[in-house]
Amino acid sequence: MMKSLIFFGPPGVGKGTQAKLLSKELAIPHISTGDMLRKAVSRKTELGRRAQAIMESGGLVPDDVMVGIVREELMTPGASGGFVLDGFPRTLEQATALSSLLAELGIDDYTVVNFAVDDDEVVKRLSSRLVCDTDGSIYNSLIDDLSVGSKCPRCTGRLIQRDDDREETVRKRLKVYHSTTKPLVEYYSKKGKVLNLNGVGPIAEVQRELRRLVVKEI
Ligand code: AMP
Repeated sequence: MMKSLIFFGPPGVGKGTQAKLLSKELAIPHISTGDMLRKAVSRKTELGRRAQAIMESGGLVPDDVMVGIVREELMTPGASGGFVLDGFPRTLEQATALSSLLAELGIDDYTVVNFAVDDDEVVKRLSSRLVCDTDGSIYNSLIDDLSVGSKCPRCTGRLIQRDDDREETVRKRLKVYHSTTKPLVEYYSKKGKVLNLNGVGPIAEVQRELRRLVVKEI
């Protein structure tokens, strides 16, 4: 049975958090293009060097680069039983490339989960978001009684603020989302692939709602 999921929505909507939880539960890979790029930046690979300044400014890494990365991930045997794709596609060009790739892989029964929250909530969440520099766990200083520099509750890492979670960069990322990424909802709606999910509320509540929607679909 295929479990091919595309998590869609603005930055800070909780896609990454929910993708980690669901991929673990369903034992399918979590393919996060943002995480892959951050890894490349910290390892100072060729890709990382190209992506770093773009990411710090809140812009988008070129489509050909992103499509190449995702193609490689989806072609691996680990993804043959399903996947949660998180942060891709972000442009129409990426979406059409993904459609060809899915057709090539014989995957027709995929689902796009469209997470919704409003912009003010995004700014609030991202400016208080904390990320472990070692295992990538995500926390929030408004909820978790943790701050920049705290020890990660799950490992020995330290909590940091992502460079692109500063308020002015968040505003730029939101602008890019509205102008370039959000129109893809229409692209997938026409294909009848979209399920809408309210991303506001405690993590466990959103998770329950997501399971209700998606597990039923799967
Ligand atoms: P994310 O963690 O998904 O918010 O991604 C962080 C940053 O990585 C984005 O603001 C972009 O600069 C870059 N990025 C991630 N995924 C993509 C993508 N599909 N296309 C272009 N840039 C991306």
